Amino acid sequence: MSTPPLFDLTGKVAIVTGGNGGIGLGMARGLAGAGCAVAIVGRNQTKSDAATAELRECGVKPISVSADVTDEAAVAAMASRVQREFGRVDILVNNAGINIRKPPHALSLAEWESVMTTNLTSAFLCSRVVHPMMKAAGGGKIVNIGSMMSIFGTSFAPAYAASKGGIVQFTRSCAVAWAADNIQVNAVLPGWIDTELTRRAREQVDGLHEKVLARTPAARWGEPADFAGIAVFLASSASDFVTGTAIPVDGGFSVMG
Ligand code: NDP
Repeated sequence: MSTPPLFDLTGKVAIVTGGNGGIGLGMARGLAGAGCAVAIVGRNQTKSDAATAELRECGVKPISVSADVTDEAAVAAMASRVQREFGRVDILVNNAGINIRKPPHALSLAEWESVMTTNLTSAFLCSRVVHPMMKAAGGGKIVNIGSMMSIFGTSFAPAYAASKGGIVQFTRSCAVAWAADNIQVNAVLPGWIDTELTRRAREQVDGLHEKVLARTPAARWGEPADFAGIAVFLASSASDFVTGTAIPVDGGFSVMG
């Protein structure tokens, strides 16, 4: 079956931060499958090379750009490289993220700043740098990755929860600021997804695996593939009147009483 035009991304260009694995790669696969050229941004070149090799099989042009998204100059150079390579930027997925699992009283300032900068400041830096490019092209789409911790509190991830709460408010602010430029800005709030990030969490937090299964109505962990559809929807003209939202992709976790 061919892709309906509403979801067609042929000729579009997307930047996906942290697109070399996990949820970011799940989204990049969705975008590439809809015809979009994708720039994968990460630090681990081996992972990025593997991701671009895989995306090339979708028949689109992927590139990998090595950049630390917490570094303002590196972010600017990354966006210039994508602009040079493809001539445009239509879609930005702010997905790069880390967690440091400690209660608030045990977290150092350096750890707090590392999580806040990677998860929240990076979204600001990347969005700010693509804004003029999208504006000049007549519009664009920005997708920010939040978390269930954008909604709920937790004892073992105070900086992470603060950064992911901040992502939702940052999303709303950009949606309002850039609506006149025809740039739609939305957040996706993943439930518990099986990735490198949560594999480490399962090692560090006793009973987490069982708790997630019991608390998720769909009774399973999410997979990176569960993010292909929402990525295409929020990147395509299908969502042109959708902006400032925070959409859970969580198997029902956030509505479980
Ligand atoms: P992964 O650890 O698989 O992916 C994180 C990605 O972020 C990696 O590709 C990593 O690339 C990149 N990254 C981290 N720091 C930087 C940096 N400074 N500069 C550039 N890239 C960076 O985890 P997930 O796929 O699980 O996480 C993706 C997003 O989803 C994160 O924002 C996370 O908070 C969020 N999320 C995940 C959930 C889950 O259950 N898995 C639940 C809710 C939210 P590299 O190694 O190359 O630097």
